[in-house]
Amino acid sequence: MARAPPRRAADATRGTSGARYSLFLSFDGGMQTLTDALAAALPPATARLNTTVEAINFDSHTRQWNLRLCAGDATSSDDETTARGGETITADALCLALPAYASARLLGGVDAELAAELAAIPYASTATVNLAFRRRDIPHPLDGFGFVVPYVERRNALACTFSSVKFAGRAPADHALLRAFVGGALQPEMYALDDERMIAAVQADLRALLGIERAPVFAHVERWPRSMAQYHLGHLARVARIRRRLQRFPTLQLAGNAYGGAGVPDCIRSGHAAAEMMK
Ligand SMILES: Cc1cc2nc3c(=O)[nH]c(=O)nc-3n(C[C@H](O)[C@H](O)[C@H](O)COP(=O)(O)OP(=O)(O)OC[C@H]3O[C@@H](n4cnc5c(N)ncnc54)[C@H](O)[C@@H]3O)c2cc1C
Repeated sequence: MARAPPRRAADATRGTSGARYSLFLSFDGGMQTLTDALAAALPPATARLNTTVEAINFDSHTRQWNLRLCAGDATSSDDETTARGGETITADALCLALPAYASARLLGGVDAELAAELAAIPYASTATVNLAFRRRDIPHPLDGFGFVVPYVERRNALACTFSSVKFAGRAPADHALLRAFVGGALQPEMYALDDERMIAAVQADLRALLGIERAPVFAHVERWPRSMAQYHLGHLARVARIRRRLQRFPTLQLAGNAYGGAGVPDCIRSGHAAAEMMK
């Protein structure tokens, strides 16, 4: 950010594509840039990709963790770091950066009370619908970075990001990429729609709100099942109970979006904190 040249005011209104708001940051090549960089920074063969941990137990004599693995994604590569099914690995310390319900399942036999608290954190599912348009087919000036929809408006989408306005390189010249969010905790019935109906429902919103009558150049639905932890009343007290219970296992930590914030920076912070706790 410090190296970036100062942006001129005129840049804010020119063209159809490119970042306008320094408030928002992403990678030119998408979020996988981050995980690729992390993987590259690790010593070779320390990361096991496409591998599901099937069961965990804690050996109270050796004070070590045993993890039984299974090959998580049968369609994936012959990558040498992919574990073979049935393998068990032993670890001195364990950080579960999983959805809370997945940690709950794995810890059931280790500490039933801890597992029950984790299982009680609810999750919602969200889908993103990316729609590409010719810029001339959108009558709206797209003079913002998108919109969010209050529930009382009874629309089909929860929000829509003007992706190609917010970030550079998301659409070719004279085109625009819009990304709608569908489902969430309040509209699970929208998440349950098949792709075709979901796209049609989002198009109905875009017609009403942005005046877009023409069909998109393409539309793509991506589903994120049980991805968003819901912080209901009592969440902080539950997290405090989880933290207290964790003290029984000094070599076990939890990280991720279930506890103290859902944004990527929050998740990174929770990973740092977990690593610090185990030093
Ligand atoms: C549609 C959408 C848009 C978002 N947009 C933004 C945004 O613009 N900015 C922002 O800051 N945040 C955004 N978020 C929130 C943010 O992306 C998430 O909160 C964050 O990525 C969660 O990270 P995590 O590591 O906790 O969980 P995840 O990324 O879900 O990672 C958990 C991992 O655990 C793995 N796993 C589960 N069970 C097992 C097992 N038994 N063995 C091995 N592995 C297992 C899963 O495969 C997964 O890879 C968005 C979220 C969604 C769903």
